[in-house]
Amino acid sequence: MTINQILFPTAQTRQAIDDRLSHKLEDMRKYIGERSVSPNIDLDKFRQSLMSQTFDQPEDLNRLMDWVMENLAHGMVHMTHPGCFGLFNPSPAFPAECADRIASAFNPQICVWSHAPVAVEIEKHVIAQIAHRAGLPEGSGGHFTSGGAEANNTAVICALTAAEPNYAEQGARAFAGQPRLYVSAESHLAWLKIAHMTGIGREAVRLIETDGQGQMNVQALEQAIKTDVASGDIPIMIAATAGTTNAGMVDPLHACADIAEHHALWYHVDAAWGGALIASAKYRSVLDGIERTDSITIDAHKWFATTMGAGMFLTQHTPVLAEAFRVAASYMPSSNVVDDLYVNSIQWSRRFVGLRLFLSLGAAGWSGYAAHVENSIDLIDRLIEKLTRAGWKHVNNSQMAVACFTPPTGAGPVEDHVERIVANGQSWVSIARFEGRAVMRACVTNGRTTKTDVDQLVRLLIESKS
Ligand SMILES: *Cc1c(COP(=O)(O)O)cnc(C)c1O
Repeated sequence: MTINQILFPTAQTRQAIDDRLSHKLEDMRKYIGERSVSPNIDLDKFRQSLMSQTFDQPEDLNRLMDWVMENLAHGMVHMTHPGCFGLFNPSPAFPAECADRIASAFNPQICVWSHAPVAVEIEKHVIAQIAHRAGLPEGSGGHFTSGGAEANNTAVICALTAAEPNYAEQGARAFAGQPRLYVSAESHLAWLKIAHMTGIGREAVRLIETDGQGQMNVQALEQAIKTDVASGDIPIMIAATAGTTNAGMVDPLHACADIAEHHALWYHVDAAWGGALIASAKYRSVLDGIERTDSITIDAHKWFATTMGAGMFLTQHTPVLAEAFRVAASYMPSSNVVDDLYVNSIQWSRRFVGLRLFLSLGAAGWSGYAAHVENSIDLIDRLIEKLTRAGWKHVNNSQMAVACFTPPTGAGPVEDHVERIVANGQSWVSIARFEGRAVMRACVTNGRTTKTDVDQLVRLLIESKS
């Protein structure tokens, strides 16, 4: 075999490798529930084995893939395990996995409309449908991002660009004072990195106190804006969180919208995880007010359960995107520039990630996603009921599928319980801080999780009391 045939094998070889890989992956899926959810690998041994790979000799691809899959099987927190009550990362929907295969095989470059018009139009359509479902006005748009952090970053760049025409050329010094953005103390702290990256500095971020329930205190928000204005600072944006990462709490979206309107600030809602509730007629009201925003973050790779690396930025001010990300490059094919993603977003070369949501949403329909989110909420309600009955304290009043608990008095610190669950390997939960105290956090992130898995977690927790 020539080297070229290894990287670009003939149809027959390729098919054989592909079939074998499909079988191996199916085995993994079949047996994942019998494995430890959390890593149980000797990492020193693994690193030694890894160090011996110096890429000096070509090796058999099948053997290499076997080595990777065997180590992954024992070396990660398995989001595909039904006992995983994890952070917001999902067990991926199968149509999303199919989308990844299609995107890989065709490998369209979608940064320019003219290069892959069908792929670009599919993404655009999905974005428009999501924006419409969220309640944004006709003509709203946006794009797929690598995740929520990039979408939030995009929001800050838009807010700064909209607030100050000279920001594009002069950066932060274009402002007559220190720009400020307002988020709650329980928000996702990528805001700090974003402030750093956009050149306004981490001090630009005002972490507004919460009300004891994990929601932004709007009086404190008003006060902070007043104080900042009085001292010559320049308020730029309010970013409310709809579904905080630790506890699934929703800031008062209407009250924040009123304040943003009154001070003429950009209003963003970070609904990275919770945004999926737009699918459910039963729970849509939890997001009431989200339709009043200038921009929204919703991740496809959280509650919409696509594979990792798929977020969305939605806005009703698409011309601001064109202003914020404009550039002219002589080597880029000229085309329908309005739709070219490289002049409307942070990324340049782009993967066709939107196909994941197109296929998942297409195959399941909104009703399928409604069932998906409602089922995870039902399971969390069951967990709350059973643990509360066993003396655990449920501390977050969220309507989403995440619950935070503290153990019964005398049952030892919450860290011990979580450590024991993780070490046991049948379930996975995490430690989080909610309103200043350590809590056990459990979130249903796997569409295959059942009542039996919830009951098992309860049993393990109650046993751990002794
Ligand atoms: C997860 C999350 C983010 C960050 O999103 P990534 O997809 O991890 O980049 C931002 N905000 C909230 C509320 C989140 O839950």
